[in-house]
Amino acid sequence: MKADIVIKNIDNLITLKGPNRARVNEEMREIGLINDGIVALKDDKIIYVGKGELPASIKTHKDTILIDGKGKTVTPGLVDSHTHLVHGGSREHELSMKLKGAKYLDILEAGGGIHSTVNATKEASFDQLYDKAKKSLDIMLGFGVTTVEAKSGYGLEDFDTEIKQMEVANKLNEDHYVDIVSTFMGAHAIPTKYKDNPRTFIDIIIDEMIPKVSERKLAKFCDVFCEKGVFSVEDSKEILEAGIRYGLLPKVHADEIEPMGGAELAAEVGCITADHLVAASEIGIKMMAEKGVIANLLPGTSFNLQTGKFARAKRMIEAGVPVALSTDYNPGSCPTENMQLVMSLASIVMKMTPEEVITAATINGAASLKLEEQIGSLEVGKKADLVIFDAPNLDYIIYHFGINHTDKVIRNGKLAFEKTTNIL
Ligand SMILES: [Zn+2]
Repeated sequence: MKADIVIKNIDNLITLKGPNRARVNEEMREIGLINDGIVALKDDKIIYVGKGELPASIKTHKDTILIDGKGKTVTPGLVDSHTHLVHGGSREHELSMKLKGAKYLDILEAGGGIHSTVNATKEASFDQLYDKAKKSLDIMLGFGVTTVEAKSGYGLEDFDTEIKQMEVANKLNEDHYVDIVSTFMGAHAIPTKYKDNPRTFIDIIIDEMIPKVSERKLAKFCDVFCEKGVFSVEDSKEILEAGIRYGLLPKVHADEIEPMGGAELAAEVGCITADHLVAASEIGIKMMAEKGVIANLLPGTSFNLQTGKFARAKRMIEAGVPVALSTDYNPGSCPTENMQLVMSLASIVMKMTPEEVITAATINGAASLKLEEQIGSLEVGKKADLVIFDAPNLDYIIYHFGINHTDKVIRNGKLAFEKTTNIL
């Protein structure tokens, strides 16, 4: 067999070799490290992962791209499995409100927050949303992200806007290097119109929207914002179960602000992930461990909301809950595409080890999107998605925080990003 790309002399090759499922407990610290590693790629697949030189069975051809991994760390492509990628507008004006002590739910009640993004998203054309989301995807790719989840949820009762968001995500999935997985999240907030009659909105989601999303194959997942003043545990359960009946896999924004029983709900419904979990109860954590629900943690959001409260990542890992990490990129609570910063926050603030962090950002992220068979580790037969970091080891990437360590990104077997320095 002849390789198209060979990366050799890799100081730290982090393979994440292991079972094709979310890793738990000590598995989250077993990263399959190879020193002096070598990886060979052909078409869109990995054909060899090892140490030293290529075996005799794998040759190069005249156009094979040879990359020197000296002084570099190579990992699977990062997976950002929770974002609100497609949206209109930005909300920098809320910063001063937050600095004066306004809480997320205060801003929401004052008619700001998500409602201003809903209006901006409704007003934006398909092309405007596409261009804005593409710009963010380019940034994400530069930070080493090769797969992104994108939620709808800024149309709410305006189903055309919900559809527009999902169609933008699906079009970008076709056009862009980064792979995009679409999630329907009509249940992102109670629209102002249904403030006094949320039941009517819930019925519309269940009876009209979910069947259409499924029929038109607009999304793989269905998500609900289960929170005080938004959707109750009972409402969320009804919506998620309706999604399941129509083939949409369940995810839930759970226990972000109040301990609502969202983690318990996720276990009961069989959610693939429960996300946020800052206020998750001990019982909820145990139930998630039993059912294998992945805790998708978003420390960038806690940081930006200035609450000082972060999810208990270490407790969750100790309890046997598989942990993933994501940016939660959105214009309100977490306006950053920087997955590497999220990884540093996970370690510096939530005390996850660098090994746990890279597991959470690769194979456990892949499992959060039900893509663990295809991506998330560097093993023969998996997709050729990987990042070459200009860093001598994994700890360095986490420790030297807030900057971009990416040297090159290979996505689907093609060189998709290369660092350039333009100092004039
Ligand atoms: Zn979110």
